[in-house]
Amino acid sequence: MSTGSQVELVLLAQPRGYCAGVEMAIKALTWLVRVFEPPVYCFHEIVHNRLVVERFERLGVRFVNDIDEVPAGAPLMLSAHGSAPEVVIQARDRAGVAINAVCPLVTKVHHEVKTRANQGYSVIYVGHAGHDEAVGTMAVAPDHVYLVEKPADVDALTDVDPSAVALLAQTTLAIDDWADVRVRVNERFPDAWMPGRSDLCFATTNRQAALLQLCDQVDSVVIIGSENSSNTMALVRMAQARCAGRVVRVNDVEELPAGLTGTVGVTAGASAPEDVVQAVIARLAPRQGFQIVDAIDEDEYFPPPRELRGLFADLTAIARVAFDIPDAVSPLSDDRQRDAAHALG
Ligand code: SF4
Repeated sequence: MSTGSQVELVLLAQPRGYCAGVEMAIKALTWLVRVFEPPVYCFHEIVHNRLVVERFERLGVRFVNDIDEVPAGAPLMLSAHGSAPEVVIQARDRAGVAINAVCPLVTKVHHEVKTRANQGYSVIYVGHAGHDEAVGTMAVAPDHVYLVEKPADVDALTDVDPSAVALLAQTTLAIDDWADVRVRVNERFPDAWMPGRSDLCFATTNRQAALLQLCDQVDSVVIIGSENSSNTMALVRMAQARCAGRVVRVNDVEELPAGLTGTVGVTAGASAPEDVVQAVIARLAPRQGFQIVDAIDEDEYFPPPRELRGLFADLTAIARVAFDIPDAVSPLSDDRQRDAAHALG
């Protein structure tokens, strides 16, 4: 039966959408909303996706860009992108409960910056100026970090000691952008230190690998995610450089343009909800349905933030003693089985 659609087939990238860090952060903020009366506060967008932020706002979350906007004693979460060390201290001083939902892979880069700066290295950091992750990471050792975005920025560095250069990166860069800068750094500073694996995280590289796998089979590509999402925009740049045909980025199904035809590739950035992916496929109504293009198995899991585990351990202990529930267990005990889409839904 004809659907009336001009789209013949959808190739659906796998993996796509929520990564382990985003899963962890969304579930953590969902718990904060459940435990405390609104409003609860979040420093920066919990993840860079407009729909996710709007859904949390409807649940009573207030997103702030300055800890001074948080009333003393209020519950507060710090976003997945990581925060400057002084912000973390300020949050702990001010909030009644402060939970840091930073992704562990961002924390790893913070450690690398701190270690190399303490050893006297000049840290060349590849990242996007003004992005929350870059701002937080650079604040770990501001006097030692030099932000670069493109190879020409490496050429422009003047006061770097060439005998002690370290090369680190924002986790969510486009592989091509990162490689271009790395080549230039290696040319100019052949002894530059960098981690055994680049700082680009598995979620970023896996989503780009999945996109590449379908790139030459499609007439157009739809990328779901927000404009301020670094890994989403990395997918967009990669698709524009490597894929055939039209490249479209949408936040939501309502932004999907008319006129897509033939075979359409669909993927989603690491903070984009799966329900939007399904809505996009439904709107495209491909005559032959969709096929999954499976690039890599991804089963990473990050446990809830330490402070949240501590909070629930305390609440569980109170339930056992004060309310005589000897077999009370933390609601986080089956966290791995829960998914963020279900929790936020
Ligand atoms: Fe962590 Fe990578 Fe996901 Fe960012 S994209 S939250 S660094 S796993």
